[in-house]
Amino acid sequence: MFRIGHGFDMHKFGSAKPLILAGINIPYSHGLNAHSDGDVIIHALCDALLGAAALGDIGQHFSDKDPRWQNANSQLFLEHTHTLLQQQGYRIANLDVTVLAEAPRLAPHVPAMRQRLADILALALTQVSIKATTTEGLGAIGHKQALACYAVVLLLSANE
Ligand code: MG
Repeated sequence: MFRIGHGFDMHKFGSAKPLILAGINIPYSHGLNAHSDGDVIIHALCDALLGAAALGDIGQHFSDKDPRWQNANSQLFLEHTHTLLQQQGYRIANLDVTVLAEAPRLAPHVPAMRQRLADILALALTQVSIKATTTEGLGAIGHKQALACYAVVLLLSANE
């Protein structure tokens, strides 16, 4: 009846695209290199949700070779993933996201990001957690070259 899922994603800064995280436009000098809009939070979350249901991964469902997803709004990926879960009789108990970023500072944007994810997935705010941390200046993230995200989810199934 319970299914746990974990997801991870990381993208490199450098793109002229806007920085979009959890569907929210974050003012910053750089966007993330990606075939889609580079929304690492939504990508990690999709992988966690798909993983919990053993439905593969985001690359299988939304290939980065597919021209349909060029510069795609990643919210579409999350909506589609949510529909797949509902078709399988799953609902989301809660989700917890940890974003790793040296810059920009994300804390001021967390309330809007939580609300956006709750809206897309038809959840209460209390079911959606987003935390941000730095890596103390270490590694690619610490050098502001990249941004990464971990996500875990718990699903409830009516079928088991
Ligand atoms: Mg990605």
